[in-house]
Amino acid sequence: MYLSGIIYSSLIPNHTIASILEASRIEEVVSEFVNLKRRGSNLIGLCPFHQEKTPSFTVSPAKGIFKCFGCGKAGDSAKFIMEHEHYSYPEALKYLARKYQIEIEEREQTAEEIVAMNARERMFNLNLFAQQQFTNTLFESDEGRAIGLSYFKERDFREATIRKFQLGYCSDKRDAFSQYATASGYSEDILLLTGLSVKHNEQLYDRFQGRVIFPIHNLTGKVVGFGGRILGSEKSKAKYLNSPESEVYAKSKTLYGIYFAKNAISKLDNCLLVEGYTDVISMHQAGIENVVASSGTSLTTDQIRIIRRYTNNITILYDGDKAGINASLRGIDMILEEGMNVRVLLFPEGNDPDSYVRRHRTSEVEGFIQQESKDFISFKTRLLLDEASNDPIKKAGLIKEIVHTISLIPDAIYRSVYVKECSRMLDVEELTLLNELNKLLRSRFRKQISPDLPETAAETRPQEPETPKPAEEKQGYYQERELLKLLLNYGAQDLLLETTDENGFPAVYRETVAHYIIDDLAHDKLVFDHPTHLKIMQLYSEGLDNGVVPHEQHFISHPEPDISLLAIDLLTERYELSKNWERHKIFVKSITEDLKQSIDSNLLDFKSKIIESRLPELMQQLEAATEGDAQDNLLKEYKNLNDMKVKINNLLGKVIIR
Ligand code: ZN
Repeated sequence: MYLSGIIYSSLIPNHTIASILEASRIEEVVSEFVNLKRRGSNLIGLCPFHQEKTPSFTVSPAKGIFKCFGCGKAGDSAKFIMEHEHYSYPEALKYLARKYQIEIEEREQTAEEIVAMNARERMFNLNLFAQQQFTNTLFESDEGRAIGLSYFKERDFREATIRKFQLGYCSDKRDAFSQYATASGYSEDILLLTGLSVKHNEQLYDRFQGRVIFPIHNLTGKVVGFGGRILGSEKSKAKYLNSPESEVYAKSKTLYGIYFAKNAISKLDNCLLVEGYTDVISMHQAGIENVVASSGTSLTTDQIRIIRRYTNNITILYDGDKAGINASLRGIDMILEEGMNVRVLLFPEGNDPDSYVRRHRTSEVEGFIQQESKDFISFKTRLLLDEASNDPIKKAGLIKEIVHTISLIPDAIYRSVYVKECSRMLDVEELTLLNELNKLLRSRFRKQISPDLPETAAETRPQEPETPKPAEEKQGYYQERELLKLLLNYGAQDLLLETTDENGFPAVYRETVAHYIIDDLAHDKLVFDHPTHLKIMQLYSEGLDNGVVPHEQHFISHPEPDISLLAIDLLTERYELSKNWERHKIFVKSITEDLKQSIDSNLLDFKSKIIESRLPELMQQLEAATEGDAQDNLLKEYKNLNDMKVKINNLLGKVIIR
């Protein structure tokens, strides 16, 4: 059996994850938070994830999943707890384990682990001690008041704000803090591990001497590190200095301000991303609290995932200078890659969030963010168009650049919306953009999923067909969906198939639906075209190669959201007779009554679709082809498709007679 949790949690043993997921009853888990009423085999209630008056939130006890038909949120018990409580996967598992009284046997810790664990505790203690000491110095010492406090006052920080963010000051006397900490019982090794002290010629010095201090908190409000800003104009020293990476402080996984912002982010369903400590603090003071900074590093995927626990929407606030923007465009791509929405706001030249907030009233700032933030495609297009101006070659490069960004979006529907928008803004045919996009997607998925996927008709399809059709229609999108529906719903079920033995006598053998479908497609060298469809198909192939039919749970709980959402879609959709069956006058009383017939006609429909769209194109290409090699390949493909067509016609004949 497949377990999706494995990659998430190294601490909880896999067999425990399995028993937690098996014990969890979705209706019990959800009903702690949502009032559910029975409707048929399902339960319904008001969705906890969006505002609604009539229930569209559905729980299926049989499948162990929830799905909201209003906002689209869906998943299993663990997913529900993650979404509802903003828990990580391990945290959700622990919650469920407690609920179902499953003991999570922690591995016995090694001696090194115990030492490391103790070191972490001691580092947290020292960081807390240091923060308190720095705040004391700021408010109580002459030096702190004269230098540190007057700097914060200059920035218009109120005392309540300074206290809330636990700002401080570290004395300029080379080792004052180190001395005090040592005298208070903190050992040298911990002072060095946290980076609060540095050692030089057997002597401890304060890392942050003469700097104002910005403590950096983790999600639970513990101080994990510090940022220190120098106030003089000494050119030899960096303006900002941060604690070094340590057991408790991983820069790439830390967001400045997240502890103070998380509730507002969740409530407002948007996270504002700024550059500096003072931007975060000024905006907070102005009452705009859903704001964090990726201080110390450029934005990382881990930081984006922290934000994703609270919202799917990020608005990046850029200073009004161009130099910084180009460097941080990568951040937009990374956010899109995580399946989140991103908007961008550019402050007027010479402004940053900090200065802007100080010069405007809160309502003005909120209005400004609301009105001036642009979706990424308008932003990027405008930014790059300025550079490309009227140079056609540069413009072509720009188009590729933007299509590349669109290709990173996991959700096909969003991609198509952005393609339309891009076509309008750049005045380029939508189809041209789609072709470019599909090329990128296909090559990426080929590389990602299976480096040695065979070349297929779908992949070598020409870029400019005669009559443009919507991408989904053209690529047999619906036919692929129907086949996936059969795989997910009936994959493990046995079919009884007829054959003849070596003596020519009729014989019967068993094969699973999954084998039957996957082998049939492989035989005709066909793969699905739509990226998520292809991923699921590949997961089936891999499973069958390893001797297991992947369980539907594997897809429902899959870490890639496009896979799990599609799987849930396909499992919850009412099974409808495909149009094809009506067209071919196939009488099907219910799908389970004649599963094989349903599968056959779906396979047939899929293949007809490919032939229908590909054969005319192929004929034209053959006429136009001049080089021998190209002609050979086209002829091979033509023969393959034609064989398929003959076979299909034969089959159709039989089906109709029956
Ligand atoms: Zn909902």
